[in-house]
Amino acid sequence: MQIWGNVLCLPSVNLILKMRIITLKSEMSHWRQGLSSQSSVGFVPTMGALHHGHLSLVSQALMDNDLAVISIFVNPTQFNNSADLEVYPRTFEADNSLLETLPHDRIVLFTPRAEDLYDGPPLSKRWEFGSIARVMEGEFRDGHFDGVGTVLQLLFEAVSPSKSYFGEKDYQQLLIVKSLADQLGNTNEIIGCPIYREVSGLAMSSRNQRLSEQQKVQATLLYQIMKYIKEHLNTMSWAELKSWAELQFEKDKDWQLEYLTLADSQTLEKKDDYSKDKPLRIFIAAHLGTVRLIDNMAVN
Ligand code: AMP
Repeated sequence: MQIWGNVLCLPSVNLILKMRIITLKSEMSHWRQGLSSQSSVGFVPTMGALHHGHLSLVSQALMDNDLAVISIFVNPTQFNNSADLEVYPRTFEADNSLLETLPHDRIVLFTPRAEDLYDGPPLSKRWEFGSIARVMEGEFRDGHFDGVGTVLQLLFEAVSPSKSYFGEKDYQQLLIVKSLADQLGNTNEIIGCPIYREVSGLAMSSRNQRLSEQQKVQATLLYQIMKYIKEHLNTMSWAELKSWAELQFEKDKDWQLEYLTLADSQTLEKKDDYSKDKPLRIFIAAHLGTVRLIDNMAVN
């Protein structure tokens, strides 16, 4: 603290205050119930290893609401592969530093532990996702969306958000979450946010931390392929474009393509050809070495 003439200069409040961190779901509910009914809370659930894609969701939540809650929880029940769960990046110190750059007085970090979050009588599953959960991620990651639905139901119960923010990076998940919120029937509006990309086009992802510098360059193939397809869908058939794309993956032995799909943006029904009438998206999932990457792009 300094005194200049007769002006008392206090250091900025943000430099003194620390972001509030809550670990227990009971404490989260207690904090939430203590807020005035006028206060709106935007919620951003994450699995940590935060990057600027996550921060873009938090910024949107802060723009739309009085307060934002960001959760970090690597949810075991949504991993169908235990090796994948084990190597998922956990970088709490770095996450904390990144969040410290945001306005401390408007952010709460929620870091529940599995024993506490999943404690209590088994959830009565009140949702059914139907065909949108059976394709793509649902087909290749058995049980994944049941795990997502379960953890989000628990997180939504603890946080009681006014609005919740999800990235189009996980576009299928975004549709699932909209359906979940509808079926749970509370006033939690689900907001989809655009995909945040590196300058190279690579979609930001926590899993990118497991890529070497060279693999990050290779990984731009996903974006390049979707962009090429989008630019040529008017003049080439989907079958031709898909064969061309498969060839690009075959040329580099480090890649293993899992799926490449053109689908209706609302129903996720597979399409074999381009049509201007309905919004369509390209969806892609592939392994680069041991890292599984997904991406998608609207084509109209
Ligand atoms: P995750 O930590 O991977 O579970 O992601 C937490 C949330 O951040 C999800 O709603 C993701 O869709 C979103 N997200 C992850 N990466 C990006 C990105 N590159 N751009 C926008 N949203 C993202």
